[in-house]
Amino acid sequence: MKAIRIHAHGGADQLRYEDVEEPRIASPNDVIVKLQAAALNHIDIWVRMGATGMQIPMPHILGADGAGVVAEVGNGVKSVRTGDKVCLYSFTGCGECEFCLSDRDFMCIRVRSLGERLDGTYAEYVRVAAENCFPFPSYMTFDEGAAFPLVFLTLWRMLVTNARLQPGESLLIIGIGGGVASAALQVAKQMGARIIVTSGNDEKLERARALGADHGINHRRRNFAEEVRNLTDNRGVDVVLDSVAGEVWQKSLASLAHGGRLVTCGATAGGEPNDDLKRMISRELKIYGSTLGSREDFRQLLSFLEVSKIRPILDRKFPLREAAAAQQRMEEARQFGKILLQTSK
Ligand SMILES: [Zn+2]
Repeated sequence: MKAIRIHAHGGADQLRYEDVEEPRIASPNDVIVKLQAAALNHIDIWVRMGATGMQIPMPHILGADGAGVVAEVGNGVKSVRTGDKVCLYSFTGCGECEFCLSDRDFMCIRVRSLGERLDGTYAEYVRVAAENCFPFPSYMTFDEGAAFPLVFLTLWRMLVTNARLQPGESLLIIGIGGGVASAALQVAKQMGARIIVTSGNDEKLERARALGADHGINHRRRNFAEEVRNLTDNRGVDVVLDSVAGEVWQKSLASLAHGGRLVTCGATAGGEPNDDLKRMISRELKIYGSTLGSREDFRQLLSFLEVSKIRPILDRKFPLREAAAAQQRMEEARQFGKILLQTSK
């Protein structure tokens, strides 16, 4: 089969389009999926550069997200059959620790995930464990089925499992435009939340309004914490989603109502923000760190998608052989939505 592999860490020039042996069933629980599409994530670039600090076997196939059709199953597999359309949950733990035994493989210290310690989805075929194959959303295309898992799983755990956003509550999303932020907007809108977004880019604020944001604040022109107070009769919002941190962290805290929750899955502007402890205490604020998600989060998400019929936002699709150009587009932040690779011929 054709696949994109790296033989060493480095720049996009390390991505090699080459002939690779097809994955085979190695244990009774294995499933071979013929991929129709793969989607890019920033983790692909960090793995390529060697920035995760993780030892990975070389040569290595990148890619955490993909969707396709089951081509072959091991003799112990009952949950899926040859010909099933599937989307993929990418984490496999040790199967023995307290996290794995409670379905939270992604917290396992020995976790292996597609494109990191396991060969990934920049390929025509991928091998996964049966319990990582999930029913394909009935209304989605293969491109959409490849695009949504990692981003939507991350935001579902942030907003629903951790921050417990409720219908009718207000949500402030810092820095709309990124994959997780845009998906959070789509999901929160369907849940019946009132949504305020910030960006330094008016075009992104316009797009956010089209996706359902009630208010957009350009944080280059205005202090968003003051603006949030104005928009909420000086109350503040129930939940802030801030994966920017750095300088904006204090303003995010200042935007919260009494008992408000701040949830974060990243710190693009700096990982050591100044906490306003006095405010956190007097207002009983809560802060949730959040990362990835469990199979149970994924199951809940799939049910929600089937009802809400949300479609992930797609940017552009590249042939598999042009994976380097696709990654460059992501590194230069030129995309709006998910970048895809056509893995099938
Ligand atoms: Zn484990």
